Amino acid sequence: MIDYHVHSNISYDGKSSPQEYIDIAHLKGIKEFTFTEHFDYLNGVSNINLDNYYSSFKNLTIPDDLSVNFGVEVGFNKHYKTTIESAISKYPFDFIIGSSHSIGGFEINDELFDSRCRSDVYLMYFNEIINNIKLFTNYDVYGHLDHIVRYGNFDDNIFDYINYINIIDEILKVIISNGKGLEVNSSGYRFNSNNPYPCVDILKRYKELGGEIITVGSDAHKYWELGRDLDIVYELLLKCGFDYINIFHNRNVSYVKIKK
Ligand SMILES: [Zn+2]
Ligand SMILES: [Zn+2]
Repeated sequence: MIDYHVHSNISYDGKSSPQEYIDIAHLKGIKEFTFTEHFDYLNGVSNINLDNYYSSFKNLTIPDDLSVNFGVEVGFNKHYKTTIESAISKYPFDFIIGSSHSIGGFEINDELFDSRCRSDVYLMYFNEIINNIKLFTNYDVYGHLDHIVRYGNFDDNIFDYINYINIIDEILKVIISNGKGLEVNSSGYRFNSNNPYPCVDILKRYKELGGEIITVGSDAHKYWELGRDLDIVYELLLKCGFDYINIFHNRNVSYVKIKK
């Protein structure tokens, strides 16, 4: 299996060392994975030292039968577009996930829902995505598209896709027309949604609209989460009509057939 969304303790919220992931990979049936450490700029401050990240990556001991790539998960924030883009251009990343972890410069958290109804927050989030993907182009796949569903402490964290069909269509069309891909993130299964992020309906719609580029990731923050629930995601992708997933090396995309 291949896991293209992994955070070590180089990310502010990661719990395991990079080497711990490498050491467990074989046991987890992983033959290739990509570190995608968080790079978010909030309130004028970056949450990572990219120099340290790059030098620690170069010093890893990686066995010959394992492929480990140097990636990053960029939190789009229009207020720091120039700073973010010039920082990421300095490093030879294999792969870049673009995500929205903030709305209007404020971090997404449960408190957003305190004074707003659920659908208003969802619409704010999807509008933030539209603005971000029209502004930022230096990324390969868009990350965990509907992960807003995990916030707000609702009992039913199932995404009611049908109510946001138009804005999701707009997002998917921008992603496709810009030649970018969609990430399928299995962490949804860990947050009780019984769906990956994005949900099955969005994956089917992406396919209908001509979307082809897909990466699959666990969003592991601890070494034992490496590869978690990816087998379910691969099955789901086959059912949605995707026969291939994608990998990236030096930002170049290749296709890998999903084993049936
Ligand atoms: Zn993320
Ligand atoms: Zn992540």
